Amino acid sequence: MNYKGNEQGFYGEFGGAFIPEMLYHNTNELKENYLQIINSKVFKKEFKDLLKEYVGRPTPLYYAKRLSKKYNTNIFLKREDLNHTGAHKINNTIGQILVAKQMGKQRIIAETGAGQHGVATATVCALMGLECIVYMGEVDIKRQAPNVARMKMLGAEVRPAISGSKTLKDATNEAIRDWIANPVDTYYLIGSVVGPHPYPDMVARFQSIISKEMLSQLQEKTGRDYPDKIIACVGGGSNAAGAFYHYLDNTKVELIAVEADGLGVATGKTAATTQVGSEGIIHGSKTLLMQNSEGQITEPYSISAGLDYPGVGPLHAHLFKTGRGKFIGATDKEALDAAFELTLLEGIIPALESAHALAVLKKITCKPDENIVVNLSGRGDKDMETYINRMD
Ligand SMILES: *Cc1c(COP(=O)(O)O)cnc(C)c1O
Repeated sequence: MNYKGNEQGFYGEFGGAFIPEMLYHNTNELKENYLQIINSKVFKKEFKDLLKEYVGRPTPLYYAKRLSKKYNTNIFLKREDLNHTGAHKINNTIGQILVAKQMGKQRIIAETGAGQHGVATATVCALMGLECIVYMGEVDIKRQAPNVARMKMLGAEVRPAISGSKTLKDATNEAIRDWIANPVDTYYLIGSVVGPHPYPDMVARFQSIISKEMLSQLQEKTGRDYPDKIIACVGGGSNAAGAFYHYLDNTKVELIAVEADGLGVATGKTAATTQVGSEGIIHGSKTLLMQNSEGQITEPYSISAGLDYPGVGPLHAHLFKTGRGKFIGATDKEALDAAFELTLLEGIIPALESAHALAVLKKITCKPDENIVVNLSGRGDKDMETYINRMD
């Protein structure tokens, strides 16, 4: 079974590039160039140096002693929360900004929902001195004021999307419209393993630094370069893709993907795409998505803004369909409980997204001699308001 996708960007039946003809030139230019660029010596050196000196990699693989004791197993946390800007997203934006530079692009566009990807994009644009335009739903701009302020301080222009539900999918439509209108000088920087080929493959390659580091870190700490289980949350799926990447073909490793159940799958207020979604095309890719009987995308819900996405990337749809990945949900409440548990046991305040992955420790059987890696995708500073409300 091929889990890494073929040359046309298909993961089994999922993936590909289902795009309007007017976008063909743009995606094709990227498709023709990306592998050659990211495999070049110049790129590899610059990417490696920036990950080390600017992002702060490698991130630790921390043995969580008190958490392990509680679950009577061995739990390691891959500390993506310690990256510059507080999450894994910067691994991808660093990679793509270098690709954009190599392609001679001067203007960067992106869309963002919660604002995390917008901040990661604005950060690398400031770093490289490139123009940055971030599309964001008008509703999200109001909900995510601190991230909007960060983007502006970093020099980005935040453009409101005022159509439809004024959220992420509408911002995506605006970004695509912009890219069609500006095919020569503009690079579209996508934030997860979603979108038309080659984005899912390219983003997975950039995030695969996570599992690459795990190989040697596990070897050193456990005497074996693979764990028994890897647990990661899935919004679009980039942190999970990165944590799984070098273990996709090692079937001794159980891959556990955690979706946001929201208020519960049965309530309809959920973002658990594999549970309530069906096959269709979103963002130029054939995958699983949440849609109504007429094929219109339905609004997802989760307490965690980063998991509030109405689809999963094609790699994850394939992992789900083939059974290679085990998909489990965690509700808002379960994630909140897990966030407080980690904080009190280990002194680490996790992002709400990452807390969904932690919540699954209660739902699986863990053996005392097992090694489990939980990908701690981000830190909880941005979620303090939600955490404070729960303490009242
Ligand atoms: C954006 C985000 C996610 C979800 O995105 P993926 O592409 O699924 O990784 C998860 N955790 C954090 C901290 C995020 O910021």
